Amino acid sequence: MEPFQLKPLPYTPEALASVMSVETVNFHYGKHHKGYVEKLNLLVKGKAYADCSLEEIILQSAHKESEKAIFNNAAQVWNHDFYWSSLNPRGARQPSGDLEQALDDSFGNLDEFKKKFVEAALDQFGSGWVWLCRDRMGKVQITKSSNALNPLLLDLQPLLTIDVWEHAYYLDFQNRRGEFVEECVSKLLDWEFAEKNFEAHWLAAPDISI
Ligand code: FE
Repeated sequence: MEPFQLKPLPYTPEALASVMSVETVNFHYGKHHKGYVEKLNLLVKGKAYADCSLEEIILQSAHKESEKAIFNNAAQVWNHDFYWSSLNPRGARQPSGDLEQALDDSFGNLDEFKKKFVEAALDQFGSGWVWLCRDRMGKVQITKSSNALNPLLLDLQPLLTIDVWEHAYYLDFQNRRGEFVEECVSKLLDWEFAEKNFEAHWLAAPDISI
């Protein structure tokens, strides 16, 4: 058995149809995401990384020029696992409790957060990701990252993410990235997943050593 597996989608490929077509999900999950898993398995063959978690690989290989390919593929597997879990076909219910309070503290209100999140997605030049994160003080913030980078490297706990690589939206929205992100935010963001992450222990320690 290969060390890394393609994590099953938490729903059927048709389930996100209010925003993205089955064709988009099939290409994105079945080709791109699957491709990162397959490439990672090839790259870690015979290496100590084969026995590590994705988080350990990400933190250990980041910023090492000779391990760039391992980092990129491991991080893209992790980012995509997190992305599919950030979406919820049952429709976006509103955040509540401590997360709602943290959003109000940082952004004023939920609508303002949504506006800033879409702006950040548009502001990300080229391929990347937009994230809602929590810092160690419990404050929430929006971050964006290029290519495969993610907030684990900034010592931030991700709560939600949207993939803004063109492969995430081009079939359905062509160049209209803002519209795609707006639709995801208003119809699909899984606030229950975000609340769980907000309360969770840190996903990975930044000083981890293997
Ligand atoms: Fe993607």
